[in-house]
Amino acid sequence: MDIIKSAFVELYPKKEFSYTTKIIFSNHFSMYNASIVKRQSSIEVRASGLWKDVAQDILFGLVQTLLVKFFGPPENETYNMKLYDQFLKNVHLSIPKKDTDKELEESFNRVGEQFLSDTVELSNLKWGTYSTRKLGSYDFQTDTIVISKALQGKDQRMLDYVMFHEMLHKKLKFSTTKSKKHFHTSEFHGWEKRFPQHEEIENELKKLGRKASKKNLLSWIGERFK
Ligand SMILES: [Zn+2]
Repeated sequence: MDIIKSAFVELYPKKEFSYTTKIIFSNHFSMYNASIVKRQSSIEVRASGLWKDVAQDILFGLVQTLLVKFFGPPENETYNMKLYDQFLKNVHLSIPKKDTDKELEESFNRVGEQFLSDTVELSNLKWGTYSTRKLGSYDFQTDTIVISKALQGKDQRMLDYVMFHEMLHKKLKFSTTKSKKHFHTSEFHGWEKRFPQHEEIENELKKLGRKASKKNLLSWIGERFK
């Protein structure tokens, strides 16, 4: 079966499909990462080797989720896409924790204890590049929190606040409407406000962004957290 074609046809029954397709399992990806490459007449899905052992129904949902990136939202989210969402929300349970760092782990534990009643299990923790445009991210497919080196060895509250934000992504997951995922919901912002002096810390984080890239503060604010 041509999974990519079948996935497409179910998503967009009225559109024509005229691509050659290929699915490549590659060990260059970590854990459950995957990507899609679309050229003029071909579509290629690349996925980590671990995907070979995942149920076909869920792989089908992954392919559909990737196709939506290029072809836009379908009228309805499919059953397989919902399965994939469920998989993504729970996969952290099966991902080994290999990456860590003392400063990050201390922050993770501090935040977990103070604000989350230790309900978030340890994730992989990594320093990213020295970026003031993106201070943190959480990747569901690898259960990894990446924190910008711009926060290393600085005010502990700033690090903890960004860590808190990323841990909330793991705790609260996401909701989906019309195949679009929503991460920063009103519930999410409600949680963020529990952090003492969160407004003051936000302002300090904004200053950090301004110092490095004066011209683009607005986009920095938008992309600060992913
Ligand atoms: Zn975020």
